[in-house]
Amino acid sequence: MVDFKNTQGGKTSIDGDKLEAMRASLRGALLMPADEGYDVSRTLWSATIDRRPAAIVRAAGAGDAMQAVNFARENRLLLAVRGGGHNIAGKAACDGGLMLDLSAMKSVRVEPAAKRARVEPGALLGDFDRETQAFGLSTPTGINSTTGMSGLTLGGGFGWQSRERGLTIDNLVAADVVLASGEFVQASATQHADLLWAQRGGGGNFGVVTSFEYQLHSLGPQVLAGLVVYPMEQAKQVFEGYRKFTAAASDDMTVWMVLRKAPPLPFLPADAHGKPVVVVAFCWIGEPKQGEAMTQLLHGFGKPYGAHAGPVPFAGWQTAFDPLLTPGARNYWKSHDFNAMTVEVERILCDAITQLPSDECEAFIGQLGGAINRVAEADTAYPHRDVEFVVNVHTRWREASDDAKCIGWTRSLFDALAPHATGGVYVNFMPEDESQREAAGAYGANFKRLAALKAKYDPANLFNQNQNIAPKA
Ligand SMILES: Cc1cc2nc3c(=O)[nH]c(=O)nc-3n(C[C@H](O)[C@H](O)[C@H](O)COP(=O)(O)OP(=O)(O)OC[C@H]3O[C@@H](n4cnc5c(N)ncnc54)[C@H](O)[C@@H]3O)c2cc1C
Repeated sequence: MVDFKNTQGGKTSIDGDKLEAMRASLRGALLMPADEGYDVSRTLWSATIDRRPAAIVRAAGAGDAMQAVNFARENRLLLAVRGGGHNIAGKAACDGGLMLDLSAMKSVRVEPAAKRARVEPGALLGDFDRETQAFGLSTPTGINSTTGMSGLTLGGGFGWQSRERGLTIDNLVAADVVLASGEFVQASATQHADLLWAQRGGGGNFGVVTSFEYQLHSLGPQVLAGLVVYPMEQAKQVFEGYRKFTAAASDDMTVWMVLRKAPPLPFLPADAHGKPVVVVAFCWIGEPKQGEAMTQLLHGFGKPYGAHAGPVPFAGWQTAFDPLLTPGARNYWKSHDFNAMTVEVERILCDAITQLPSDECEAFIGQLGGAINRVAEADTAYPHRDVEFVVNVHTRWREASDDAKCIGWTRSLFDALAPHATGGVYVNFMPEDESQREAAGAYGANFKRLAALKAKYDPANLFNQNQNIAPKA
């Protein structure tokens, strides 16, 4: 017998024969704690999360996902679903339950003539970028190549192309979904359109997606992108320049800022390494020559320590931040949405950067707006269509003994920023201890419709290891 945690918070013992029958029905693997591969499957991006499922289905296809969902539902087992394993809340793994690990399903199939891509749920952004860019195509995703396409999409998804082409979900045209009932359906504009609506920002609440279909756009392969790094002492003028620049920038230009200690980048003078800096990171997705004059302005916000900018392959630029975001560190994030990057927000961020609890912590400002905001709030489950900037407090450290110090710093910076923020939060940037923000904060005005769809598609809340939407007819 193997003990599992069940959905009632109690224990369910499963007969060994039943598990063997389940193993035999899979194309992929059933991994128990002693099996090779178990630890690889359950290990997520953030080392703060260390959960041990009673068993893991490492799926090879939609058939395995159906088996796992049926097994969990019939036995009322706690069920966690893993795509790329990046989510900061770490709900892709669960203690004592059944984990459905989709990370081996990585196929990306591009249809160049139709400008469409079919993507399996274990594909990472880097898999998607390399495959689509081979055809000079892409769609908006995030900025770090090791993030999973599936969790990113289900929450919304934004990065360097979003101001011109919308969120990832605005380019999601269809999804194959295994429902809580075990039924396999296709959600599109013509079939289960309400389910597709819910998948566009409703997190993993509505079923297991075994294939995503995206609309693609021509891109690059060269874009104009780079970093301009300013000393923190010049933050006031850099923020002033940033405010003016972003107010006037066309949608094919996106500029994010990062406040942190300077990493030892080869284009920075050695005496700048480790000093607090403001990093201006940009990407112009139009024809590189046409963006040159505009991007030059980013070098004139002050007197930079250094810059590394120019035409680069887009798929390469997507890996630019990977070295700062490697898996295995301890992480805690908090996030706010903003309508404007005000002087008050600037002051709070700059003050906090003088008291970083570890050298790897940062505050990042992402520029949104543009095409993201031209979609109506009710058109997709993602409701934050008036947001211009997102600020993330990315706290990152190595030793568990520093947890309290680092988490405390994050929370106090988050609290100081709160009066200036919209109150909304991107569901994909929420840590696990933010359940009080799930309804109003993450899903906003769309929460009621989402709760009704949850009652239709997952009435027993089988898919509850996520930023959860309780079913309410
Ligand atoms: C370093 C880093 C950089 C990031 N950068 C960006 C960025 O630039 N832009 C952006 O928009 N976001 C960004 N994110 C946030 C990212 O979108 C979320 O962490 C996202 O959830 C990651 O997806 P995943 O598949 O890797 O996550 P996982 O942890 O595997 O999954 C997250 C949750 O989604 C659900 N889920 C996953 N796959 C499925 C599926 N196939 N079917 C049903 N439910 C599923 C589950 O509930 C799971 O708990 C970043 C995150 C990190 C850690």
